[in-house]
Amino acid sequence: MSLDALLQNYARLLIRTGCALRPGQEVLLTAPVEAAGFARMVAQEAWEAGASAVTVEWVDDVISRLKYLHAPQSAFEKVPDWLTVQRNGVAERGGVILSLDGDDPDGMAGIDPSLFTAWARAVHRDCKAFYDGMDLGRNVWCIAGAATPKWAQKVFPGLPENEAVERLWQAILSTARADGPDPAGAWADHSAAFRRRTQLLNARQFDALHYTAANGTDFTVGLNQNHVWAGGGAETVDGTWFFPNMPTEEIFTSPHRDRAHGIVHSALPLNYNGGLIEDFWVKFEGGAAVDCGAAKGLELLKSILAEDEGAQNLGEVALVPHASPIAQSGILFYSTLYDENAACHLALGKGFPECVQGGLEMDEGALRDHHINLSATHVDFMIGTADLNITGILPDGTEVPVFRAGNWAGEFA
Ligand code: ZN
Repeated sequence: MSLDALLQNYARLLIRTGCALRPGQEVLLTAPVEAAGFARMVAQEAWEAGASAVTVEWVDDVISRLKYLHAPQSAFEKVPDWLTVQRNGVAERGGVILSLDGDDPDGMAGIDPSLFTAWARAVHRDCKAFYDGMDLGRNVWCIAGAATPKWAQKVFPGLPENEAVERLWQAILSTARADGPDPAGAWADHSAAFRRRTQLLNARQFDALHYTAANGTDFTVGLNQNHVWAGGGAETVDGTWFFPNMPTEEIFTSPHRDRAHGIVHSALPLNYNGGLIEDFWVKFEGGAAVDCGAAKGLELLKSILAEDEGAQNLGEVALVPHASPIAQSGILFYSTLYDENAACHLALGKGFPECVQGGLEMDEGALRDHHINLSATHVDFMIGTADLNITGILPDGTEVPVFRAGNWAGEFA
């Protein structure tokens, strides 16, 4: 199949499987200007699936960078009215939100990180209906990759631009299981495997997970009563099954905020705000990071931990087999969407309401009472090595293998 034909299939997969678009729904599509050709394919698929409107928010890394370099502080503290109306309106009308991610990994290098924090705070406040729609299961949303020249040349340095972009598209298609003749069928199988494992984990209700690896990782994290493992896809409150991330390989939950102890060593570098943290470790006691070290980027790591009160505690525990296509590709994508699906990981910061039973109906106080970590930040870091063992510990102390040598083990295999 030609690359164009594969891309058309990929566009259809995003609209029909990722967004599960129903006739009459609106689509809000965010797309990089450098991937305009692919964005047009997606728009065509959306109309063919019966969309009632297709609105595109174009992203231009260069224009964005200029704003961060020159705009006054006040520009990051208030969202323009039109953007608030556009985003909240689509969410309130039950639209689907599809974002094509092709960010230049270095596009924001050297920008004052406090501006990102200010903007994140402003959009979450001013576009509350939009974020609540996604966070509380009212709206379908999907993030997927689209190759752009700057990103491609970061991932494949030294290749001519055209070749790098084509290589990146191939990597995007294969990791999204969209490189064969029947991507929708491949996702049906993938989804069934997710359902089996999440159901098993939810039935087991482990009290804790114990991680060990030869790099020195020896770490135990407590899980909440009535915790929920999620992954693969998600369901809206009105019962639409969709895929928030394509690709997706992780099964995740939010751990007990105050029950992590031991040391975890990184398995992959962490790309954060344009800087790289390499070969690092974090030591936890009583749920909080109490010490850390890094071969490179230690100050950046410390700045993550200092972001707010919850930034030292964990909000996510995710299980990703080493046999997954992203891990097997061996590519560092410099993109969370891909790299967080490359290995087992933890996240510092915000936990997920859907990871405790009834959590989507809880306010912040109730989530806190259920030991879900609250924070404005959420930073994933990879700890899954090829030799990682994870053992589930039942409330009565019984140990059950979950991962052995980097992959699902026992009843989970
Ligand atoms: Zn994750």
